[in-house]
Amino acid sequence: MSLAICPGSFDPITLGHLNIIRRTSKIFDEVIVCIMQNAAKSSSMFTIEERVDMVRRACSRYPNVRVDSQHCLLAEYARQYPGCVVVKGLRAASDFEYEFQMNLANKKINPDMETMFLASDGKYNFLSSSLVRELASYGADITGYVPNELIDEINLRAKQWRK
Ligand code: ADP
Repeated sequence: MSLAICPGSFDPITLGHLNIIRRTSKIFDEVIVCIMQNAAKSSSMFTIEERVDMVRRACSRYPNVRVDSQHCLLAEYARQYPGCVVVKGLRAASDFEYEFQMNLANKKINPDMETMFLASDGKYNFLSSSLVRELASYGADITGYVPNELIDEINLRAKQWRK
């Protein structure tokens, strides 16, 4: 059985993430979306538990997708799933440079871990969680950027977050 891991901070999940998850779920038998605590991103808008819950709701329509979270390195996490493939979305050249470097670092820790990249859908090429956080914190409309069912809670948190 083929297994993919889609890792990320998902703070919050966007339609760009969901596009990658949906496409991955068509290629692999099973997909684990893994919410990671990113040491480089100091101030999160949502806790890990909140993000797990939001991603679960957004992915509930995909029966072969499940959600997990972890605080260790992705390369360590992947060891428990021999033969799994990490799938990441690529938006721009800047994503590529970062991902290329991460891939080399991961390979040193876990040489068996393979990473594949899916090109971002053109519609979502510009979209990131940080853009959503920024727009929502200024009260701008985030319709079309995040799953509809999450809009209200993102707007609510953004208001408190900005204070
Ligand atoms: P962000 O950069 O939005 O904070 P994450 O760290 O949560 O995103 O990213 C998780 C994965 O999703 C990464 O592989 C990232 O490249 C990918 N990704 C994020 N946004 C998009 C998008 N709009 N289109 C395609 N892939 C994306």
